[in-house]
Parts: sequence; C-alpha cells; structure tokens
Amino acid sequence: MIALSVILPVYNDAQALAAFLPVLCEWLGQRPGRQEVVVVNDGSRDAVDAACRAQQARLPAHVALRFIAFSRNFGKEAALSAGLAAAQGDWVAMMDADGQHPVPVLAQMLQLGEGGADMVAAIQAERPHEGGLMRLLKRGFYRFMQDNARYEIRPSAGDFRLMRRKVVNALLALPERQRFMKGLYAWVGFNTVYLPFAAPPRAQGRSKFNYASLMELALVGITSFSQKPLRWISRTGLLVSLASMLYGLFIVADTLLFGRDVPGWATVVAGIMFSAGVQLICLGVMGEYVGRIYEEVKQRPIYVIDYEWQSGGPDNAPGR
Ligand code: UDP
Ligand code: MG
Repeated sequence: MIALSVILPVYNDAQALAAFLPVLCEWLGQRPGRQEVVVVNDGSRDAVDAACRAQQARLPAHVALRFIAFSRNFGKEAALSAGLAAAQGDWVAMMDADGQHPVPVLAQMLQLGEGGADMVAAIQAERPHEGGLMRLLKRGFYRFMQDNARYEIRPSAGDFRLMRRKVVNALLALPERQRFMKGLYAWVGFNTVYLPFAAPPRAQGRSKFNYASLMELALVGITSFSQKPLRWISRTGLLVSLASMLYGLFIVADTLLFGRDVPGWATVVAGIMFSAGVQLICLGVMGEYVGRIYEEVKQRPIYVIDYEWQSGGPDNAPGR
C-alpha cells in the first residue's frame, strides 16, 4: 500500500526538477507509510532522466521514484493523465516540477484531506507576472465556462491538487482523448475544498504556455464542456432571418408608398456579404466541434510511452 503519490509532469524543466526533487523527497521521507513520486517526462529534450537518476541515490528508504518517458511531447494534460494512471497511492497529488507549487502547501492540502475533503485544489489567486490582456481573456474564458448549474469550473484552480483514490478512479474512467483536466476535475464532483496560495516565481526557465497554446487549451475546454456556441448559431440565424424579414416588409411598403427609385445594389451586396460572413463564422464554430468529434472517434491513445523505470525496479530505458 502506498500512502501518497506525487505526480510531476515535466517538459524541458530538468534544472528546475533537479532542484525541486530533493526538497520533495526529503519531505516525503518524513511522512509515515510508503510514498511515491511519479515523474512523467513529456518528451523533454534536456536531461530530465539524468536528473531523476541522480536523485535515486539520495532517496529515503520508503520513498519510491518512478519514471515514465513519453515518445514525444504530448502536453501537460496527457502527462497528468499518464501520471494518474500510474500512481498507486491512496492519496494522489499533482504538482508542477518548476518549483511554483511549494511543498508546505501540499502539507496543508493533506491536512484538509485528512479533515474530510475528497479533493483539495490550490487556488493561485495572484499572478503578478501576468499581463492585463491575459487576465482579461482568462476572466472571459472562466465566465464563459460557467455553463452548467451542476458543477463549477472554479477560476484560478489549476492542476495543483490532492485527491483521494476514488476521485482518481473516477477520472481514469473518463475515456475522452480531448482532456481539459480543469473541467474533468469539476465534472467528476466529490467534496472539493479550495486552498488559496501564492506561487513563487519559476525556479528556472520560462513558462511552457503562450497565447497560442492557451488558446488551443481553451478551445478544448469550450468544445468539451459547453454547447453554448452551437446555441448561439441558431440564435444568430433566427435574428438575421427576422431582421431580413422586417427589412423586406419595409422595402415592400416603401415601394408601394413612394414608388421605386434607385436599384439599390449596394444594399444587395452588403446583405450578401453580411450573410456570407455570418455563415462562415457559424461553419467555423461547427467545424471546431466536428474536428473534436473526429479526434475522439479516431480512438488514438492519449499518449505513447517510450520507456519506464523505477527505483530498485525494472528499467527498460534504451541502452539498459
Ligand atoms: N509541462 C508539461 N508538458 C508541456 C508543458 C508543460 O509536462 O507540454 C509541465 C512543465 O514542465 C511544468 C508544468 O507542466 O512542470 C507547468 O508548466 P509551466 O510552469 O510552464 O506552466 P505555468 O506555471 O506557466 O502555468
Ligand atoms: Mg510554472
């Protein structure tokens, strides 16, 4: 039986991980019962494997280190899914490997868990380094995602979480390939407690997320958790039809009352261009959903594992 598993997704963060692993392992070593760290190497091109192997020698007796290497970069959501599938603990925690998720906060989360919570989510309220536009976009996104009265995707509650085995099992039972984890945590439910914390700056390197990748993630989130855009399409259609009907009536009345004057091709061209634009936007929105359906029906795995090893256990890394 393993008491606690800590999942660390890592992408090109070897240096930061090398600094964070000893801190985490030392703290785990002071806890009662068996503990494990599951490092998921998400196709890093730097020395993540070597950093973990170096830690092996300094591992406290009842702490195990497991290493899963993807065949390429599959993204953080995939890395977290792989970690959840591999973790064996009664409690499972997920942390960033860059030192932005402090170990003392994890200790606090465990206290809340032992107090009865099934899932404890850390809330990073302050992001001082973040620009105004990013803040605005994120606020808009989370407001948009408040779509369902049955569960709430809480803003600023990220992947720094602790959960009971039953929550992990519920997450593992979700078969979708488009994994918007923040939505999935909310979807499975359970008694969730939120814990605000202040994240220190990154130990090393830069954030792996930019506008483009966050936009892609937001699209995954919207299409898998909201049908609002599809509803908006029919409403837009209704509105445009209504407006054109009224305009038609106006033209008829105008012609009957005042006779025909100019041919009015400008109105025709503007009308055609407007409706063509609206139709293309609607097609684009539908295409976004169709594309996601295509991703799902292909049934490709969420990730591909290249090799795995664990401290004092089997090792199928190439060249070993
Ligand atoms: N990460 C990952 N795969 C990716 C991008 C990031 O496993 O494709 C990991 C990264 O190594 C780190 C965590 O996810 O441990 C959070 O990434 P980052 O610090 O860049 O994000 P931020 O803190 O800016 O949200
Ligand atoms: Mg970070």
